[in-house]
Amino acid sequence: MDADKFMDFDHASTTQTRAEVVEAMLPYFSELYGNAGSRHRLGVGSNKAINRSRRVLAEILDADNEGIYYTSGATEANNWALRGIAYGYAEKGRHIITSRIEHPSVLETCRRLEKEGFSVTYLSVDSRGRISLTELENSIRKDTILVSVMYVNNETGVIQPIEEIASICRKHQVLFHTDAVQAFGKLPFSVKKSGIDLLTISGHKIYGPKGIGCLYARKYLKLEPLLLGGHQQNGMRAGTEPVPQIVGLSTAAILMKEELVQVRTHMKALRDTMKKRLSENFEQIVFHENEENQLPDILSVSFPGKEAEQILAYLDTKKIYASGGSACSSGDRKPSHVLQAMGKSAMETKGAIRFSFGRENTTDDIEAVINALKIELNKP
Ligand code: PMP
Repeated sequence: MDADKFMDFDHASTTQTRAEVVEAMLPYFSELYGNAGSRHRLGVGSNKAINRSRRVLAEILDADNEGIYYTSGATEANNWALRGIAYGYAEKGRHIITSRIEHPSVLETCRRLEKEGFSVTYLSVDSRGRISLTELENSIRKDTILVSVMYVNNETGVIQPIEEIASICRKHQVLFHTDAVQAFGKLPFSVKKSGIDLLTISGHKIYGPKGIGCLYARKYLKLEPLLLGGHQQNGMRAGTEPVPQIVGLSTAAILMKEELVQVRTHMKALRDTMKKRLSENFEQIVFHENEENQLPDILSVSFPGKEAEQILAYLDTKKIYASGGSACSSGDRKPSHVLQAMGKSAMETKGAIRFSFGRENTTDDIEAVINALKIELNKP
């Protein structure tokens, strides 16, 4: 075996930037390096590249060009969606609804808004990771301005009923934001047809570069800008545009769209195989999933009585990379708030491992994982 070969089962954390994406970005680091705000030809070239990328993203999302704002990633886009709408609509009301299983960039922004005098309802989820539409509708009050519920959960891959949520929001004239980081490029959807008002995506989860994301906001929303100090992006998000990253994001999005069907089939085969092989080999295994509403790219499992940290450390020695709960929270060793919200026991949350598949994974890689797990888990 190639000594440098490793097996990445952590694609929900990040992905390798594709060669085609790097190639498309390169000229914007070198000969086409203009500041898109400059009037001369170098600047105009950069501006054109940004507009082209914006049109591409708008078309893929089925959304208006004008609503696409580039950000430094999904964390910024989520912060902006929540605070921008809260500040813009504070006169109308100060109540926001979200769910207990959101990414920390949503949850911690909500906590900050609570300190600033807004009130937030955190929707529960059932044992299979979905919110209740009845609880959502019952939580809407006269002063509710925004609902923010993620499209696909980053720890479990469970898909939320986005169209139904949007339709409840429309009925009650409440805005709807969704963090679509783990859905974009993987599930086909239309922003317009789904009735989504605001949506977050990130470049590095779709084989694009890190440091770029986008917030889509429907026209005529009173979205307050958070970054001030420049006229860029219609004065909505100040800061010189990172043209290479912007071009990288749209190039990655095009490739995801072109290869959607083929990659979907591959993801499903990988997940099915892994689930089957795990079940055959480890009787005690528990899957954290929702089979009818499941993105195949993510497989969250627990080996009750076993510590995820220890298993992951062993896999690491075999150059097999996965994560415990979510990578973002693995540094602080707290049990996963997502699995806790699903009512999983302390033993299960402690032992939770997330495998997330990517284009380059093969069924042979899966066999290597099974063999490594057999050694680690059957240790006396
Ligand atoms: N939302 C979700 C669902 C995510 O998985 C992530 C990445 N862990 C983020 C937001 C943050 O994305 P970024 O790294 O682009 O800030």
